[in-house]
Amino acid sequence: MVNGSLPTPINRFTFMFDRITNFIRTFFEIIFGDLRKLFSPKERDPIVIVEPDPEDLEPQDGGDIPKDTIVTVNTKLEEVVVMPQEVEPPPPEIPSTTIPTPKPEITPIPEPAPEPKPEVVTPRHRFLWCLDNGHGKLTAGKRSPKLKNDTRFFEYQFNRIIVKGIIKELKKHGVKYYNVVPEVSVDNFLKGRVLRANNVPSPIPKIFLSIHANAGPGTWTSAKGLETWFFHGSRTGRKLAAVFQQQLVNELGWTNRGIKSQATKQFYVLRRTNMPAVLTENGFYNNRKEVYSLLDKEIQKKIIKAHVDAILFFEKHGI
Ligand SMILES: [Zn+2]
Repeated sequence: MVNGSLPTPINRFTFMFDRITNFIRTFFEIIFGDLRKLFSPKERDPIVIVEPDPEDLEPQDGGDIPKDTIVTVNTKLEEVVVMPQEVEPPPPEIPSTTIPTPKPEITPIPEPAPEPKPEVVTPRHRFLWCLDNGHGKLTAGKRSPKLKNDTRFFEYQFNRIIVKGIIKELKKHGVKYYNVVPEVSVDNFLKGRVLRANNVPSPIPKIFLSIHANAGPGTWTSAKGLETWFFHGSRTGRKLAAVFQQQLVNELGWTNRGIKSQATKQFYVLRRTNMPAVLTENGFYNNRKEVYSLLDKEIQKKIIKAHVDAILFFEKHGI
């Protein structure tokens, strides 16, 4: 005998018992509906267990770097910033047969000096800047320990202040941008960030700029300063990082932790975006001193200015 078991009296009894209980249950369910609902105090929403997307748990920023990761650091920014040469149009060639016009003998009356005009802002749109605010309100961690006034620093709030400030300035300069995640109540949303940026239609090339504040290991850290990350091995990314880092260091005068990349465990948004990408880490929110600077409106303005200046640099010179 290959399938089933021997029809012993016990098996026959169990089989019959199951059939009778099923019959009774079905009978009552037809009349009263699901019996369990009759005896439960109120109908409950079904509990859906959503498995976290493994990609959403990948390193998001400098605070997520595992200890054993080898990070390439360069703090000598002048070595990597290659200032593009502005191409001057060649002077018009004068044909050899042209007789130069003699200078007029009458000395012209000097015109009054022109009134200083307000700076004319010409619209430029060389790139579409995909501005990413890093985390959402629902992201675990990414907040400071309790501060003196019993509040905390929340990274998603800070990142949004900076992105909002950058957008305000870019509008003035006619620079194209795309606010990747304007929503606040989101989780890491790493996949969503990348998909949105990758899929947003644009007739001009795109650049991904992710704004963050940093955290060191432990509750409070002695680590401080600025660092900018790029996709390991990307020459364009390295150049972007160098200019952003340079602007930030110049503007704030904080510790220069250099431009960084790592061959393994690269940040998701650097690895999966299909465009040049850069991620700035603007100070440490679990550094007892720096966290208060990050909450300071004047410092925030400087951080915004540094980013805008870097963007305008690439809008002017290209990449
Ligand atoms: Zn972050």
